[in-house]
Amino acid sequence: MDVEPIKLGLVGIGKIARDQHLPAIAGNDRFVLAATASRQGRVDGVPGYYDIAEMASACPLDAVSICTPPDGRYQQALAAIEAGLHVMLEKPPATTLSQVEALVEAARAADVALFTTWHSREAAGVGPARAWLADKRIEAVRIDWKEDIRRWHPGQEWILGPGGFGVFDPGINALSITTSILPNELCVESATMDVPAGRASPIAASVQMRSAGADVRAEFDFLQTGPQTWSIEVDTDHGTLRLTEGGSVIQRPGEKEQTDLDLEYARLYERFAHLVAERAIDVDLRPLRLVADTFLIADRRSVSEFLF
Ligand code: NAP
Repeated sequence: MDVEPIKLGLVGIGKIARDQHLPAIAGNDRFVLAATASRQGRVDGVPGYYDIAEMASACPLDAVSICTPPDGRYQQALAAIEAGLHVMLEKPPATTLSQVEALVEAARAADVALFTTWHSREAAGVGPARAWLADKRIEAVRIDWKEDIRRWHPGQEWILGPGGFGVFDPGINALSITTSILPNELCVESATMDVPAGRASPIAASVQMRSAGADVRAEFDFLQTGPQTWSIEVDTDHGTLRLTEGGSVIQRPGEKEQTDLDLEYARLYERFAHLVAERAIDVDLRPLRLVADTFLIADRRSVSEFLF
């Protein structure tokens, strides 16, 4: 039996929409890109609208995938749910925990799918890391997520604004991986955050966490020049497992590094198609909760002004 493709609206045509979402949608025959909603961004050959309300009233749609910055996403997702559309959200899913909980409630009431994605969990090394760690004793974890904001986020002023997450915009990817590979829950014990003068969100942070008996230390830095580092090292009773390159490369003790095809966004859209068919909800708040806990507990240090 032929099943109609899901008519999708893509919202927020910026860097990640162009780099990852457009190719992943084009490569999945369960979806057809029916429209876009973005104040300025347009995709050639696809009807473009200013926002979700305009798009939903002009164009028959089944679902939206939202790639705007996190601040404002809650209102956009709620508008889509209230229009009866299934919703997929880029990470971080919203700026507060309570907004995501309200979206879950609204999606249940409207009987639509809701998917808060964590793309880094789909990186090639993450599933194998989780499987290898499952029966090991975890002794210590070191997370180093250090990148150059000017290189990867040029001109993205929103990222250091309120609800922009600062260095936790990429850093939440490390937390999404760590929460998915460790067998025990993580909790935040202490933290420091460096906030540039005149900005709302941190440009660097250190977070001390615990997972059962294991110390988990995380260093996040947005001012890293030279080699860029997105690595997680897990010491166990059977040696140290290393995930590097954002989770795409794995090295188990005594083995060579291994990697595989980059299927992060292909997997997210495959999962979304499944959730739409089931009208199901896939929401894991743990990475966002760890960031929220860090913001609650952190010792904030004011550092010098930052200009892009
Ligand atoms: P971006 O390049 O700034 O694109 C976001 C787009 O959203 C903008 O082009 C803008 O298009 C629209 N938008 C709507 N409201 C906005 C507002 N108040 N301020 C700024 N833009 C607004 O950002 P991005 O890098 O694609 O990141 C978007 C989301 O994807 C973030 O949550 C980020 O964490 C996530 N993400 C990014 C990457 C990456 O490598 N960049 C990777 C994975 C996930 P219009 O002006 O046309 O409305």
